[in-house]
Amino acid sequence: MENTNYWQIPQPSAEDHQNLPNKVKILRERLIDIARRYPNAKLASSLAVEDMLITDLIAKLKLPIIIFTLETRKLHTETLALIPKIKEVYDIDIELYTPNQEEADQYEKDFGKFAFYESVELRKKCCYIRKIEPLNRALSDTDAWLTGQRREQSVTREQLEFEEQDTTHHIAKFNPIFDWTEHEVWAYIQENQVPFNQPYLKGYPSIGCEPCTRPVRKGEDIRAGRWWWESKDSKECGLHQN
Ligand code: SF4
Repeated sequence: MENTNYWQIPQPSAEDHQNLPNKVKILRERLIDIARRYPNAKLASSLAVEDMLITDLIAKLKLPIIIFTLETRKLHTETLALIPKIKEVYDIDIELYTPNQEEADQYEKDFGKFAFYESVELRKKCCYIRKIEPLNRALSDTDAWLTGQRREQSVTREQLEFEEQDTTHHIAKFNPIFDWTEHEVWAYIQENQVPFNQPYLKGYPSIGCEPCTRPVRKGEDIRAGRWWWESKDSKECGLHQN
């Protein structure tokens, strides 16, 4: 039986659906503009609904934006199942960037398989090996990247802008749905029958690596299930730090 104490997929209102054509129009213009200015731009997709929304539009507009995923080797099975689904629905091959196996093995040998629960430092070290270093590789041949981040997602994202300069990789960075609400995202997913990651159906509003994500109770911050044992202000993996 469904547990109603947990977060559930939002039911967008009639107003959310009414606002959608205008939001989509603006988003299409943003994506076309990015692709025109940066023909080698890449979307970093964690396969979250936000990234699936952008993927759906990239496919419909036939934009040359490459889509990649950081396959940390710790993702949910259901998350991985979306990759062949994207191929089937959109005929798009997602580029996968995996961690350096030797470094990942050494980390587990030195600190233990679940060392990321022990301290922020060890958690960030794991994120560095499994996400940051592969991200650096993914971005090494592009002049711009896109993310599905939204302002509403957490306190660490309240200041997001549409266009930023990524001072770590020295390239442009775009957050094309920075001003979308969670309800608007789900309105798009529903209207366009976009495939999505199945843990959303089990109370996960934000889905990362399997051991570092838990379902969220009603009323909690939607990123509360990410690294739930840490304080709110440390809850980023470093992917979006300048
Ligand atoms: S989210 Fe967890 S398992 Fe994934 S890279 Fe970071 S610490 Fe490691």
